[in-house]
Amino acid sequence: MMGISFTVLSSGSTGNATVVRNKDTTLMIDAGLSAKRIDELMEQRELSGEELDGILVTHEHSDHIKGLGAVARKYDLPIYANEKTWEAINKSVGKIAEENRVVMDSGEVRDFGSLRVESFQISHDAAEPVGYCFYDGDEKLSVATDLGYMSDKVKQAISGSNVLVLEANHDIEMLRMGRYPWNTKRRILGDLGHLSNDAAGEAMSELLTGDLKRTYLAHLSRDHNQMDLAKMTVRAGMEDRGCFYKDSEFKLCDTYYDRPTPWDKVSEP
Ligand SMILES: [Zn+2]
Ligand SMILES: [Zn+2]
Repeated sequence: MMGISFTVLSSGSTGNATVVRNKDTTLMIDAGLSAKRIDELMEQRELSGEELDGILVTHEHSDHIKGLGAVARKYDLPIYANEKTWEAINKSVGKIAEENRVVMDSGEVRDFGSLRVESFQISHDAAEPVGYCFYDGDEKLSVATDLGYMSDKVKQAISGSNVLVLEANHDIEMLRMGRYPWNTKRRILGDLGHLSNDAAGEAMSELLTGDLKRTYLAHLSRDHNQMDLAKMTVRAGMEDRGCFYKDSEFKLCDTYYDRPTPWDKVSEP
């Protein structure tokens, strides 16, 4: 039994792309790097674009759609996005064949062969941003980044996951002290911005159940975060709220802006 496996090809404000697959379906979530770079990253995980069955879009920010049109054209792939996101990406995505423009409503559940996908709305400064859950049998993987805050709706959508890819964008202090203009800082810190390490820790204190084996910390700011700091802060935020775990039961895992994570099987303990 194969179940769900995945690799985060790249994560961060310089570009996001993740590949999720099971025995009969391979999907990419976002294509926020150049098509050439995405090809290179896939090659590093012994994956070819020919194996992809489609691309799911979370929202229209360029770090999520930079190579979307080019990758879709190169491999003749359907693109899945909700109506408002389609409106927002229409110009930048270039020419896409009619049959490859697929509307997938927010909250819709869609079966791609034996891989079930469900989208859920998130709070972020985009037209209609979403995250995605993937199901195969009793396995569940959820991808949730670009979150202004962890709403009850998102928490509900991603609860019961075996593996999570969750945003830990910035260290609040590093961001406050940093060189960004005040408006940008306010945007990032706001309810339509990005999830801080602290907020990710708080969320994790509620999300950690026996089902959850790993959380990949994702979309880290290169200017205002570091992986070690993010992990430490998330764990501290969990422990502050009485949520303790053994390293043998649960792990916080790295993602990278410049290389893919190893293939990970959701069923692995
Ligand atoms: Zn982003
Ligand atoms: Zn965004």
